[in-house]
Amino acid sequence: MEDTFKHKGLREKLVDGIREKGIKNNAVLSAMSRVPRHLFMDNGFINFAYSDRAFPIGAGQTISQPYTVAFQTDCLQLKRFAKVLEVGTGSGYQAAVLCELGVTLYTIERQRELYEKAQKLLPSLGYHPQFFFGDGYKGLPTYGPFDGIIVTAGATTIPQDLVKQLVVGGRMVIPVGTTQHQVMKVVIRESENEYSVEERGDFLFVPMLPGVAGQNR
Ligand code: SAH
Repeated sequence: MEDTFKHKGLREKLVDGIREKGIKNNAVLSAMSRVPRHLFMDNGFINFAYSDRAFPIGAGQTISQPYTVAFQTDCLQLKRFAKVLEVGTGSGYQAAVLCELGVTLYTIERQRELYEKAQKLLPSLGYHPQFFFGDGYKGLPTYGPFDGIIVTAGATTIPQDLVKQLVVGGRMVIPVGTTQHQVMKVVIRESENEYSVEERGDFLFVPMLPGVAGQNR
């Protein structure tokens, strides 16, 4: 499967639609116009790759809706060369968008099948984050602190272990709520011991689960 002129055209339309929905960050929109989303989806869904919808990717998980990817990435307010942790590699699509923005990316996934698939796919497209198989609730204490942390699954509370892995001034974007409904929160580490939380609207993600799949904690 390649990236054709037709795919590029569909992608431009998708990005125009996301801009119309209110995302003004040109760096994010232009990164998304470069990532071939159809290559991150199972063959059966290729025709849907450029509609603004979430889709199944196996292991009961989903590739996030493009608007949501744009929204979360925009909330991070990233600078080039920022060090970023993504929780929930999933298909690898969000990771590719972050790599396009020139950040140093660490990404962690708890489903082995998805971890392995993304670890093959992303480098084949020229994206080279560091991949980890494990529990994102714990983060990566030995690799932090991070300028940004993006959680792409719905958490019930703000994980304190992750807040501690932000640099002072760093931001974590995380959907928090029930399995039916989450509010996007932007957590800013204000000082060694203080952080602030901003709320940015309603979303629906697959749940952030503890431990790694197939094993007890
Ligand atoms: N960023 C992904 C979205 C995938 S959906 C993409 O662009 O496709 C969310 C992912 O988070 C799922 O793959 C799920 O397995 C993973 N996940 C859920 N809880 C997790 C945890 N505690 N640690 C790491 N990954 C987790």
